[in-house]
Amino acid sequence: MDFTRRAVLKAAIASFVTSISGQATARGGQGKKVIVIGAGIAGLAAAHTLRSLGAEVIVFEAESYIGGRIRTDHSMGAPFEYGAGWIHGPSRANPVKKLAMQVDAPTFITDDDSLELQNMQRQPVNEADYQWIDDQYEALLRKLEQQGRRWGDRSIYQVIQDVAPVLLNDPRAQWMLSAFIEFDLGAGIEEISAAHAFADDKYRGEDVILPKGYDGILTPLVEGLDIRLNTPVSRVFYGDEGVLVEGEHADYAVCTASLGVLKAGNILFDPPLPDAMRNAIEGIGFGTVTKIALKFERAFWDVHTQYFGIMTEPKGRWNYWINYRTFSEENILLGLSFGHYAPVADAMSKPAMTADALEVLRSVWGRAVERPSAVLATHWSQEPNFRGAYSYPQAGGTIAQYESFESPVAGRIFMAGEHTIFKYHSTTHGALMSGERAAKKIASL
Ligand SMILES: Cc1cc2nc3c(=O)[nH]c(=O)nc-3n(C[C@H](O)[C@H](O)[C@H](O)COP(=O)(O)OP(=O)(O)OC[C@H]3O[C@@H](n4cnc5c(N)ncnc54)[C@H](O)[C@@H]3O)c2cc1C
Repeated sequence: MDFTRRAVLKAAIASFVTSISGQATARGGQGKKVIVIGAGIAGLAAAHTLRSLGAEVIVFEAESYIGGRIRTDHSMGAPFEYGAGWIHGPSRANPVKKLAMQVDAPTFITDDDSLELQNMQRQPVNEADYQWIDDQYEALLRKLEQQGRRWGDRSIYQVIQDVAPVLLNDPRAQWMLSAFIEFDLGAGIEEISAAHAFADDKYRGEDVILPKGYDGILTPLVEGLDIRLNTPVSRVFYGDEGVLVEGEHADYAVCTASLGVLKAGNILFDPPLPDAMRNAIEGIGFGTVTKIALKFERAFWDVHTQYFGIMTEPKGRWNYWINYRTFSEENILLGLSFGHYAPVADAMSKPAMTADALEVLRSVWGRAVERPSAVLATHWSQEPNFRGAYSYPQAGGTIAQYESFESPVAGRIFMAGEHTIFKYHSTTHGALMSGERAAKKIASL
């Protein structure tokens, strides 16, 4: 922006803030005006908390819907979750579980052990293979978790090269590394930090899905909020006097745009964000995961099995399938792509992606696989307001980079979102907690 315009805007902020500065010093939310950028769960939690503490809040959301990466499509008869599908660790301490309880949302435990694994030559693996996969996975996790510091800046791939090279040439291990680790972390094992991959915290309890839709949990957060949809924020001006966002003045702003959006520089901060934060934006990884839901006239698979694993090549290509018949009446298989294949899949058109996924299914079930009657698919890395699925600890990065998001910028800009909370990153509960954290900090000023 040119200097003259900047000066005019600063003057505008100054004159506006003079009129509200007296009230802004009160404790709690009373007398404070806050702009929240993004109506995902972090933004909604921040706005809800601030409003309940008496603040005036406006939420600017670029998309035409609320929820961000919590996005449910109900058109198939059973919910298709574009984004979050599970409540991870649904103990009573988990704030997302609390929301689910508040709206009486039924939950369903997806049994990880209900798995049928096959190679692409239609040969199921035998019991000994399952055992081998379990043993290798546990041994690797133990090494990664217990000796974390030893791995320094190395990626999981580099550590495996050292400690278990056999895994890199075995199709069973390739499947395990992708369907377990690349799914969990949302990136290729070549990029994920071995030291930090499993250093986060978890709530207790077996993961559950919400068979009536994840979006239902947002209801208690949304009530009474001033949410402006289809309103992308492109510039955030801030200074001693307050903030100016899309022509709206306020005392503070909470930015919950995804790490992908921050990396792409979609939002211009003036003055620029501090070096430590820019370093974090660069140093923390942001990957993608692709989902496709295929609805069929009849089920050609064993309807009682929860998951089907397929040892595809290249690694990560539609290698994990969820059977909807275990929790709904619908003949839907939901396929997932991970690691380096996920951005490849994301870039495909819907017909191309459907053909690619059907080819994998036909490698197992042959001609029994008919054309689907409905298809829904995700392209998270292609979406300008997200640019990926979730953050991950990148090789060479530090936990301090996540922590840099905890301090407000110039006492005015507060960062929230799943990428700002290392302990619970990449989760809905982490995002929610980060929003509440920002709100409480503002209220305490
Ligand atoms: C495929 C996938 C699977 C997942 N699975 C799980 C799971 O099973 N369990 C789990 O706990 N988590 C899961 N997650 C992660 C979880 O969905 C996220 O951690 C969480 O929803 C992030 O919330 P957030 O508020 O931080 O960000 P978002 O939901 O991204 O919210 C940010 C909002 O900001 C808006 N925005 C962006 N730019 C602008 C702008 N310039 N101006 C205004 N608004 C803007 C966006 O449109 C968005 O609505 C998954 C995510 C994906 C994508």
